[in-house]
Parts: sequence; structure tokens; C-alpha cells
Amino acid sequence: MKKIPLHWQILIALILAVIVGLPTTTETMLFGVRLYDIMGFFGQMFMNALRMIVIPLVFASIVSGVASVASDRGFGRLGGKTFVYYLATSLFSIITGLTLVNLIQPGAFFTGDPESLGLSTDASEVMEKVGGRGFGDLVGVFLRMIPVNVFQAAAEGQFLAVIFFAVLFGYFMAKVREEFASPMTDFWEAMYRVMMKITLWVIKFAPIGVFALVGKVVMSSGLDVFRILLLFFITVLAALAVHFFVVLPLILRFAAGLSPVAYLKAMLPAVLMAFSTASSSSTLPVTMECARDRVGASNRVSGFVLPLGATVNMDGTALYECVAVIFIAQVYGVDLSITTQFIVVMLALLTSVGVAGVPAASLVAITLILAAVGLPVEAIALILAVDRVLDMCRTSVNVYSDACATGVVARSEKEKLLV
Ligand code: ASP
Repeated sequence: MKKIPLHWQILIALILAVIVGLPTTTETMLFGVRLYDIMGFFGQMFMNALRMIVIPLVFASIVSGVASVASDRGFGRLGGKTFVYYLATSLFSIITGLTLVNLIQPGAFFTGDPESLGLSTDASEVMEKVGGRGFGDLVGVFLRMIPVNVFQAAAEGQFLAVIFFAVLFGYFMAKVREEFASPMTDFWEAMYRVMMKITLWVIKFAPIGVFALVGKVVMSSGLDVFRILLLFFITVLAALAVHFFVVLPLILRFAAGLSPVAYLKAMLPAVLMAFSTASSSSTLPVTMECARDRVGASNRVSGFVLPLGATVNMDGTALYECVAVIFIAQVYGVDLSITTQFIVVMLALLTSVGVAGVPAASLVAITLILAAVGLPVEAIALILAVDRVLDMCRTSVNVYSDACATGVVARSEKEKLLV
């Protein structure tokens, strides 16, 4: 029998969750146990598994990524340009998301008690934790960025500190003598691959996780939640569309003198592939092929910019993380201060670098940001229902931004292109 693709499985799980959740209540019993508790058990297991992989995955991917760039001496200038492009486009996309989520306020339409959405944490408790953050906290964030004890930071989930240490570790790993650097590089690369395998394995259980988590929500609140989600969905799509159809074309036109329409046409197979796989990493071979044969970029540029971009440059993901976290805060009625929003932006930027190019990878990063700003981590269950479709869209944006980087960098290196 042919295996049903994961995104269909998730969609089916979603529909089943609604079918099961609507006629039942939190008190419905199954074999003498509350169905709600059974769902809670499986939902929690899935959540735990996601949280289990965060630290080792992010650490290994950052260490091996940074080390590979740092050891590449001949690519200094290319690396500099690529870095500026990646940073600038990620920031643009986050700002677009931030503006739209603050304008549309998709979470503010929910006026009830967040607990009725099946989220166990009390809203007033959350407000207390998040509300009082001010300038002092920002200073605190930078102070906590340098961990006194790395292991303790990892155990306590202080992600910024872990990321900071990983960047340092990766950078200096490339600076020691070859005989020491090479086994270390192999080790962290292997670690990264193993963590990726575990991640992919955990994601296989997403249909069960989605069924349990969404079922619980529908059971306790009916379809109300989808009304709020619809606005969330529209907000994310609108922000992604602005980045894809306005910001990136403007960059192509004004930073590289390229025709945006011709460029999109040339890269379309990669964009479509990204949409159907929801994975930048799986799309990479197609992206490279399009950049070389259809755009005419050299191996030197595309071979450096694209693999790097597939792991570190994720505009759509950064935008999504930011919108998702602020949406969740709005559902809880928490007004995030400018400082906290700034922390969210910084974390979205940093984690989008650490997120792996696989389906649903940003869920892990969102968990991380929620915890960092004091919002309840289980609130991520809210957005799981619409995650897959948005994943397909944000991955297309991720891949297209890498593709545009190739054009911009190639033109700045005076390459003649076919578009
Ligand atoms: N699926 C995305 C990608 O591969 C990552 C994410 O945002 O989940 O680019």
C-alpha cells in the first residue's frame, strides 16, 4: 500500500480531531477514563518530544554551520555580502510580520478565558510574568546571554546563552590546528545529522500529536478557536505575501538590476518544490539546479550561498515565529511591551538561523521563544492546527529568499546572468 504523505496524514488528523471533539465534552468517558485526559496524555508526549530535541539540535546545527563558514578563508568577501543580505532580509520580513500582527491583532478577537481553549495556564499568572518587563530586563537578557555555567544554562533552557556559546564554539573550532579541528567538525556534523533524524522521527508522530492537541481544544471550546485561527492564518499569509511579492522583488530590482518576474519564473520549480515538501533542505538540490541552469549563476556563488542559506536564512520562518508568539500573547490578553517585542524579534532572528530546514521545524523555535518571554509553552497547541499549510508557504519564502541572495551576490561579483 502506498504511504499517505505526512501533510495529508496531518490534515486527516485535524479533521478527525474536529469530528471527535465536537460531539464530546471534557467529561466524556472512554473505557472509564476521561477522553480529554487520554488526549492530554498523547498531546503532552508529543510536546515533550519536541522540547527534548531543542537543545542538542540547535547546538549541533549552529556549531557545525558556523564552523564551516569560519574555516572558509577564500570566501571572506562573499561571506560578508551574503551575511549582510541574510541579516537584512530576515529583519525586513520580521518587521513586516510585526507590523501586520500589531495592526490586525488576530489574537485580540478572542475575549474569553484562555483556559477554555484547553490551555492550562492561568491568564493572570501569565500577565504577571510577562507584563512587568522593562528596560532592566533587556539589560538582563544581554547579561544572561553569557552563561556562567553552560550546562546549567542548557538544563534550564536558557536558549540565548546556549546559542551564544554555540556560535563561539563553532567559530573557534575552525581556528584550532587541523588535527584537532577535523575530528571535532566530524563529530558535530554527525551529531547534527543524528538530531535531524530524531527530529524527522518525532515529526512522524505529528498526526497523533495534532489529533490529541486539537481534539482537546475542540472538545473544550468547540469551533470557536478556528474563528481566531482564521485571522491568524490570514495575518501570516498577508505578511509572507508582502515579503515574497514586494520586498524580495524590490531587492532584486534595485540591489541587482534584475527583472523580478523573469527571476521568479526561473526559480519557480524550487519555489513549488519548497511548497510541497515544506523543507528547505530537501528542496536544496532543485534550488541549486535552477540557480545554475536557469539563472546562470556560477558554482562559486550558488554553491556557497544556497547551502548556507538553506540552513541559516529563513525569512518566512523568522516572520512566522514572531507573528505566532505575539498572536499567543494577544490571546492571553498580554500586552507585550516594546522591550519584550524586541526580545521576540531578536530571538526570532537568532532561532531562524538555528532552525533546521525540515517540516514543522519552527514549532521547536516557537516553544523556545514562548518560554523565554514567559508565555505558556503549551499554547503552541493553538497554532498546530494551521501549521502545515503555513509551513508550506513560509518554506517557499525561505527558499525564494536564498534564491534571490544568489542573484544579488552573483551580480555584485559582476557575473553575467541569463535572466
Ligand atoms: N519548514 C521550514 C523550512 O524547511 C522550517 C520551518 O519554519 O518550520 O524551511
